Amino acid sequence: MNALKNLQLPKTDLYIGGDWVSASSGAAIKVVNPATEEVIGEVSDAGVSDGLLALDAAAAAQTSWAATPARERADVLRSAYEAILARRNEFAAIIVAEMGKPWAEAQGEVDYGAGFFRWFAESAGRLHTEGQFGVEPGGEYRIAVSKRPVGPCLLITPWNFPLAMGARKIAPALAAGCTVVLKPAAQTPLTSLLLAEVLHDCGVPAGVVNVVTTSDSPAVVSAIMEDRRLKKVSFTGSTQVGQILLRQAADSVLNTSMELGGNGPLIVFDDADLDQALEGAMVAKLRNGGESCVAANRIFVHRPIAAEFIRRFTAKMRQVVMGDGSNPTSGLGPLIDGKQLAKVSSLVDDAVNKGAVCALGGNIADRAGYFYEPTVIHGIPSDADIRTEEIFGPVAAIYEFDTEDEAVDEANNTPYGLASYVFTRDVNRALRVADALETGMTGINRGIVSNPSAPFGGVKASGLGREGGTEGLDAYLETKYTGIQI
Ligand code: NAP
Repeated sequence: MNALKNLQLPKTDLYIGGDWVSASSGAAIKVVNPATEEVIGEVSDAGVSDGLLALDAAAAAQTSWAATPARERADVLRSAYEAILARRNEFAAIIVAEMGKPWAEAQGEVDYGAGFFRWFAESAGRLHTEGQFGVEPGGEYRIAVSKRPVGPCLLITPWNFPLAMGARKIAPALAAGCTVVLKPAAQTPLTSLLLAEVLHDCGVPAGVVNVVTTSDSPAVVSAIMEDRRLKKVSFTGSTQVGQILLRQAADSVLNTSMELGGNGPLIVFDDADLDQALEGAMVAKLRNGGESCVAANRIFVHRPIAAEFIRRFTAKMRQVVMGDGSNPTSGLGPLIDGKQLAKVSSLVDDAVNKGAVCALGGNIADRAGYFYEPTVIHGIPSDADIRTEEIFGPVAAIYEFDTEDEAVDEANNTPYGLASYVFTRDVNRALRVADALETGMTGINRGIVSNPSAPFGGVKASGLGREGGTEGLDAYLETKYTGIQI
């Protein structure tokens, strides 16, 4: 079976004010399948004026969308959830074609992404419970506290989860009563355009959601952020770009949410259920081919079990079938592009040249597409770049430790703080270590923590704010206090 045989591309123009419009320059961006290096389609390439038209549309729709009863907004989100699932294979095929992940993972991403529309449909219905009404302690006047939408938002997303990263922002924004301009990554614009089609069909009013695809993100994003009608920017991507946007946001004291890079530690103690730890480490390392912000970038194993862990983990990695994600037997797809392939390759080469042991892989695959072999390295010296940099590839870097304190210190020895994982059968140790880890999220005896109903996000250089959970809705709400004389 080839899941991409009858690939249907969505509309490829910009989606602005409920209409599909070409970029004013007439230019287009080519979309490449990273498994074949073939161009699969072209989308409109927006310039600054197109980006500002999208903001015009979002600003014009803001008042009426905010005034739409929360229940009605919830109903639209609920129908989006159902419509995405009804087109599950169509979404999965586009995700595989433009991003390269394996078919089953693409379907998993569709379920996860759709889940944000369901969760925030449920949350929108409860918005009236957010607030207070009472008399101030001195008895002189009443205090009324209510929540209101922040206003028009700019949502900027990366290429690694083309549906889920947009869904995680659009759904809470719409639930809160905000209108949005979505700017997806230039490498994976098609999934967002299909999502726009679905939202349009579900009755999202014109201007409430706008999608602008561009090859000049710095210019288009700067112009929108400089416009005082914009009230929030929510970004997912690298820490480096997040820092640029935070500086730009300072000029207008713009509300920001930042989901940035990671350098996730995964710690396996000698009292862990080893089968469970191996399974968890495989998922935490290889999900999305390692191109995940919550990937286990550094695997720390207690010395007494290290040799056995490395042997069994390497055996599991050896069984991974690398191939085009459209073939359902593939368990590992390509990296996103040649630049990422070169980066992963140079991190491994640097570690090996400095003395690390390569137990498996260590090479760019000898085939078309941006494939890197499943790789396991250990005995990594302290000056290897792979210790400090986000790998974003199918490379497991394994370190050994002697004591709990050493494991925690090493795990925290990074500017990042997104996700961490702990494997142990000792409940007290699990909770103690989870508390000590400087990360926004910790998985105990499991390698996946993402869930629409839980607050996803990082500390330190991994970001500001949370997406999902009740916190995900708060990110799009302002608090209004009114004092009323008695
Ligand atoms: P990126 O280079 O930072 O790009 C992310 C988005 O920002 C893309 O839409 C990109 O557009 C845009 N962009 C790039 N430069 C910009 C600029 N100067 N001004 C405005 N927008 C700009 O990140 P990436 O390589 O796509 O994604 C990988 C990174 O995302 C990793 O570090 C990963 O850890 C992080 N990530 C974090 C989370 C999380 O929740 N914390 C989730 C997923 C990924 P173009 O495509 O046009 O460059």
